[in-house]
Amino acid sequence: MTKIEIDSVDKQYRQMDGNSLQVLDDVRFETDENDFLCILGPSGCGKSTLLNIIAQLEEPSAGSVAVGSENSPTDVCFVFQEPRLLDWRTVRQNIEFALDGKGVPKDEWNERIETYLELVGLEDFVDEYPRSLSGGMQQRVSIARAMAVEPDVILMDEPFSSVDEITARNLRSDLVDIWKDQERTIVFVTHDAIEATYLANRVLVMSHRPSSVLVQEEIDIDRPRSIDDPELVELAEEFVGQLETRAGATT
Ligand code: ADP
Repeated sequence: MTKIEIDSVDKQYRQMDGNSLQVLDDVRFETDENDFLCILGPSGCGKSTLLNIIAQLEEPSAGSVAVGSENSPTDVCFVFQEPRLLDWRTVRQNIEFALDGKGVPKDEWNERIETYLELVGLEDFVDEYPRSLSGGMQQRVSIARAMAVEPDVILMDEPFSSVDEITARNLRSDLVDIWKDQERTIVFVTHDAIEATYLANRVLVMSHRPSSVLVQEEIDIDRPRSIDDPELVELAEEFVGQLETRAGATT
């Protein structure tokens, strides 16, 4: 069972002027098995920093981060705001590059590529180059690439913020289907309360900087969900209200 345990995490950055900027302040939470956890917070509160710390791309200034157990090394994959595909490689070659990087045996590559491109509806585009695909399709490829290495945890940093809203809606719905099918832990960062409430089975609301966890809430709205569902909209507004109340209290 893959768990992420974040305990008493602080993060300070040293700035150009020599002062330090405290971004995270005593952040603590855990994921459950196959969680779809959305981390919701205002821009600049430290959400990307937190993901980088989970991915061990950055060190916390204090506190502890545990991903998986000591006995079973945990694979973590990142999906970023932009697709970050290699332009000079085809869709297949982009995925192969990731599979190679993670040491997946070559005789499994074809099956993985087929399976995951089919999941995102791009099986007919395997030999295309990224530039011939729309932004939304490129983001689908980057999701397939992350899924194809079959990581225990997928970290997603506002992955739909650079595509148009209609495409984003389709991608969100696809992502929920894939998550239900694949049973992986997803940690998804967003500043959009409706997006978080639509996707997650649990939402963490982060405060303004220095950021800590204000609220943790299970979302038990039935799936498939609709972003127009009054219950969902009301809950999302409650999250926004939490943020505004805390911001008001500190300014
Ligand atoms: P979010 O993802 O919530 O928008 P970030 O984690 O990207 O927030 O950034 C939080 C704050 O930390 C911002 O003020 C940002 O400028 C600052 N920051 C992020 N990375 C660095 C860094 N490497 N050095 C200095 N400051 C940084």
